[in-house]
Amino acid sequence: MSASYDHLYRLLLIGDASVGKTSLLLRYEQGVFSETFICTIGVDFRIKTVELEGKIVKVQVWDTAGQERFRTITSAYYRGAHGVLLCFDLTCRSSFERCAAWLEEIRKHARDDISLILVGNKCDNSARREVLFEEAESFATSHGMLFYETSAKDDVNVQEAFLALVSALIAKG
Ligand code: GDP
Ligand code: MG
Repeated sequence: MSASYDHLYRLLLIGDASVGKTSLLLRYEQGVFSETFICTIGVDFRIKTVELEGKIVKVQVWDTAGQERFRTITSAYYRGAHGVLLCFDLTCRSSFERCAAWLEEIRKHARDDISLILVGNKCDNSARREVLFEEAESFATSHGMLFYETSAKDDVNVQEAFLALVSALIAKG
């Protein structure tokens, strides 16, 4: 039986608790945002099939079910991953500062050629912004990552961020 897709990519959402990882996944996959239900969903992964650059791409996105709270994400989670969305909250400075430590975890557990993208979520809440675009972008650039500011709530740049990562993976071949 022939596969019904050209590529299958396994992506991971990584980052501190409450930055909006589950919200980004639900926005990406279902186009919805919910203030109430997300905390109770123990999502493992969601699959979305997209057509990109003439290829059918199956995107399997994994979400942590709260393990990040205890920093107990095991190496099994990283196994086989092609790409990571490293997420922080633009309204929570400590979540940005923790990204360096998350990068170390990724380097330790994931494959060497993993593709990374930095995502600063909650850009809708500009009154409470604690991280400047420029400093996040410069951190991203210095680690070879693209940077996107997103809002899962207002649907800003969510599809774009996932697509940028998938495009980078397709470009790698
Ligand atoms: P996770 O722990 O990283 O999975 O984060 P959640 O998706 O559970 O979101 C944590 C909290 O942030 C929830 O109260 C969400 O409603 C809220 N949230 C998530 N994304 C956004 C966003 O883009 N903008 C705003 N203002 N709040 C958000
Ligand atoms: Mg979550």
